[in-house]
Amino acid sequence: MTNKRLVGKRVLVTAAGQGIGRASALAMAAEGAQVFATDVNVDALATLEGVEAFVLDARDNHSVEEGVARAKPEVLFNCAGFVHHGTILDATDDELDFAFDLNLRSMVRTIRAALPRMLKRGKGSIINMSSACSSVIGAPDRFIYGTTKAAVIGLTKSVAVDYVAQGIRCNCICPGTVESPSWHDRVDVLGKILGSKEEAMQQFVSRQPMGRVATAEEIAALVVYLASDDSAFTTGHPHIIDGGWSGQ
Ligand code: NAD
Repeated sequence: MTNKRLVGKRVLVTAAGQGIGRASALAMAAEGAQVFATDVNVDALATLEGVEAFVLDARDNHSVEEGVARAKPEVLFNCAGFVHHGTILDATDDELDFAFDLNLRSMVRTIRAALPRMLKRGKGSIINMSSACSSVIGAPDRFIYGTTKAAVIGLTKSVAVDYVAQGIRCNCICPGTVESPSWHDRVDVLGKILGSKEEAMQQFVSRQPMGRVATAEEIAALVVYLASDDSAFTTGHPHIIDGGWSGQ
């Protein structure tokens, strides 16, 4: 008898090479899931242990269809996303197209590919990566990002309501600031704009009333919960995990 929470579950994770996706893939494997960890970064995938790692480009229909056919997931964690800096007046059409494709349409691709099998089994948990910066709260210079992540909440609710009676759950996660490789890049970008990396770091940290950023593992714990049957009575919700940012 095991008390691991994800034994017997096949899980597909996008963007599992680093950051929250990686921490979540490892956390779900530790809970007994058979994890298919995917990314476009071959080198990052090569450092993962205890999971089946392979390349899946979330922006490519064929790659997604192949990857989903291989993983046959009961749990799908759509983690891929990118943060653009700037206001509506800074945003270019190319940046908008890229972000809507990676942050939102990638989820449409994976869900379209995975849902028919989930429906046949009468069971599935889809977890989409949104952000506190979305329809939950506005953040300065995050026009493209906040817009796409708000759309993820709409996508989540729509899928949830359409399939709630057929055993499918669809939730999303809305983290505040989380330590990850790309977050360090964003601190560098803001540091150059402000002329001080320390001030940039302070701006990111002070958004959370808890006075710190999250670890990827703290977000992974929520992913494990939503993947597991412990969360059987929740669907259609943005699960906010933001150090109190939006809760004041
Ligand atoms: P990250 O940004 O450091 O890593 C992103 C990963 O995505 C990389 O491994 C990259 O190779 C992969 N990737 C890029 N394009 C891809 C594609 N086309 N197909 C598959 N994979 C691709 O990781 P992170 O900061 O933990 O962010 C992960 C997710 O969490 C993103 O959706 C992000 O928007 C969201 N998020 C992050 C934070 C934060 O503060 N870090 C907060 C809220 C939400």
